Amino acid sequence: MAEPILPGPPTVHVRAPAKINLTLRVGPARRDGFHPLATVYQAVSLYEELTATLAEPGVFELVTTGEGSETLPTDDQNLALRAARKLATDAGLIDQVGVSMMIKKSIPVAAGLAGGSADAAAALLACATLWDLELGPQALQPMAARLGSDVPFALIGGTAVGSGRGESVVPALGRGHYYWALAFADRGLSTPAVYNRYDELGPTPPVPFEVPAELMNALRSGDAEQLGRHLINDLEAPAIDLMPELKELLQVGRDLGAIGAVISGSGPTCAFLAGDERSAIDLTVGLSASGLCRSTRYVGGPVPGARLI
Ligand code: ATP
Repeated sequence: MAEPILPGPPTVHVRAPAKINLTLRVGPARRDGFHPLATVYQAVSLYEELTATLAEPGVFELVTTGEGSETLPTDDQNLALRAARKLATDAGLIDQVGVSMMIKKSIPVAAGLAGGSADAAAALLACATLWDLELGPQALQPMAARLGSDVPFALIGGTAVGSGRGESVVPALGRGHYYWALAFADRGLSTPAVYNRYDELGPTPPVPFEVPAELMNALRSGDAEQLGRHLINDLEAPAIDLMPELKELLQVGRDLGAIGAVISGSGPTCAFLAGDERSAIDLTVGLSASGLCRSTRYVGGPVPGARLI
């Protein structure tokens, strides 16, 4: 007689998107060294996939595969494990719950696309579900903010305005779907190193320190051409100073017909806005052929934040 198939331990699957910054305005460093930000995030269709399985109480483990995973810590330095443990601690369940997680990474590491934050957001949502905590993406926001500045946005996704260190997020009114070509570099840029160079270069804080009204209007009307003209990133100069080839890459993308080009976050990923899907695909091909980047990817946005699949 065939052996009965026993159900395995409960498992959930979550995916969480990368972000790009349509605006990144950086204010002067505060006394604690952090720079206040005025940013507009957009979540795009490049996803981390996390599988979480119930484990013995006190067991918190993680395996990562895919893009850049060999460079990542698998101990508590990894944001996903830190998120799981923090959720358990805050819920008063640290000795009563456990989780075994597997992350399939597609977002390059240290690329300005907040891959680590996407993993943390995915871990929060997966563990909250697995442990029956009845906490959805909104209720997880305060804990997400304590884990890292980009984690709250990774939970809500869409298009949102971020302030503070980026952790205070408010969904932006907007319409339209945008087509992007992303160009990945063959190495990462450390976020603290880019901010240090920003300070060394003697930043002139933007006046007024806010998201350009033209960009918000473009989002409200779904006008891709206008959006493309108003993409802005105050970290572009220090990122280019640390990786000069990015300047040429941005120009090549514009010459290939991009209607906007910007470095995402602290770089080095460059995001090129296209007028339609076909043009975005053509852009990825042209950028690949330029030899100025490691690889390219066509994505769309906005997409939702971390979700169960
Ligand atoms: P930031 O959020 O600092 O702007 P980023 O978006 O450029 O960073 P990430 O891929 O999030 O880049 O990684 C930043 C750093 O976080 C890396 O040095 C990496 O070692 C560390 N890190 C910790 N956990 C993870 C994770 N799960 N995935 C990626 N990086 C992680």
